[in-house]
Amino acid sequence: MLTYKKYNCSYCFQENFVQIELSYCSELVELIEDCTVCCNPNSITYNIEDNQVTMFEIEKTY
Ligand SMILES: [Zn+2]
Repeated sequence: MLTYKKYNCSYCFQENFVQIELSYCSELVELIEDCTVCCNPNSITYNIEDNQVTMFEIEKTY
């Protein structure tokens, strides 16, 4: 199951959406998404439990 989560870019603070796969079971997922506005890479970490996003963090990518 796929869903989209809204987040604010760590660089320009504009709204972006990241696609999330909810079928992962209690798995920490780390990925890098380029902001659609400023093209800087945001590091996204999230955790899925019981098809719910239980943790969601955005950081600058160094
Ligand atoms: Zn940005």
